[in-house]
Amino acid sequence: MVKTMEKTFDMTLKRCTRCVLPETFPGITFDHDGVCNYCLSHQPVKVRGEEELLKVLSENRNKGDKYDCVVPISGGRDSSFVLHQMVKKYKMRCISLTVDSGFILPEGIRNIETVTKALGVPHVWLRDDNKIGVAQQNCIIKFHGWLKNPSINTIVPVLNAGDKTMNLRMARFAHENRIPLVWGGNYVGNCSFEEEHWKRGFMGVFPDDRGTFTTGQKIKLVTYFVTKEFLPNSYNFKWPIFKEYMTGGAVYFFEALFRPKDVRFLGFWDYIYWREKEVEATVINELGWEGAPDHTTTWRIDDSAYPLLNYMFLKIVGFTEHDEMYSKMIRENQLTREEGLRRTFADHHSDWVTGPRVTASIKELGATREQVDEVLERYSEKFLAQILKKD
Ligand SMILES: [Zn+2]
Repeated sequence: MVKTMEKTFDMTLKRCTRCVLPETFPGITFDHDGVCNYCLSHQPVKVRGEEELLKVLSENRNKGDKYDCVVPISGGRDSSFVLHQMVKKYKMRCISLTVDSGFILPEGIRNIETVTKALGVPHVWLRDDNKIGVAQQNCIIKFHGWLKNPSINTIVPVLNAGDKTMNLRMARFAHENRIPLVWGGNYVGNCSFEEEHWKRGFMGVFPDDRGTFTTGQKIKLVTYFVTKEFLPNSYNFKWPIFKEYMTGGAVYFFEALFRPKDVRFLGFWDYIYWREKEVEATVINELGWEGAPDHTTTWRIDDSAYPLLNYMFLKIVGFTEHDEMYSKMIRENQLTREEGLRRTFADHHSDWVTGPRVTASIKELGATREQVDEVLERYSEKFLAQILKKD
């Protein structure tokens, strides 16, 4: 059966001649050879190294009552890999943990069960049905508001209703159970390959290589967001939504103050260099981890917000988070440009990004695909005219 190709901008956008970033990527410029500024200023990913990791591990080994560390697991490939390394390679006494956001896909849940079982690690769900219900309800209200006043800057806060206090809840769990170390909370997997700077880049603020914003940048970002995106949309003043944003804001600025002081939060990928091939081979071959049948990559197949999120970016600016991920992998010599381009286009046309999952997500949000497509098309035209303005 010949699959109808979803309409994208794949063939019309100018792309960097070294990586695969398109001309619609925020902040992008090209030199005379068509190489983008992100390639030209790229600094190789640096990690602290295994020796440092071993030091941290020995500082925390046998310090807790029953466990040395909490390894949060989302069902994705990276957190599964981290759990594998902590248990098998570094022989830490681990407990794994998932904060149920209400947005974990069946593939993610299946992998959480398979992986923790394969490793013989206890697993705990932190679930708050009330929070989940409010988040889902908020999503519907925000999405309908978005359709009336679409903006590229609000796609993530509208769809990604994940619990803003997730890290705090993990830290409190560790504190209550006298466990000294948490491997990264929901930052697990956010190695420097997955920073997603561009999702905020359309507001003109970029973090450093590690994805850190200075306080000045945070203030600039929040000021832009509040005045241009938050205040003009009246639905944001419905109490549950207002509360969601206020909590998000408080966590964004002051999370460190709220965290129990006896728990350390560290990122595994700050110590160990991330290699896709190694991560994939380990979780698939050793843990029975499985990808999604309708996707062309094994990346981020656990979160139900992402198919629609990627679809919306693809329809508006012609790229998704996959373009950036592969571009980083090309710069780090994990992929050739040819392979990166092939994978980027395959992801753009995958059922995951364009198929029934997207239609189902839209339906759950109380809209129709036609209705959403119409809004996206109209907004894209307007937005592209703005950002591709030639001087
Ligand atoms: Zn480039």
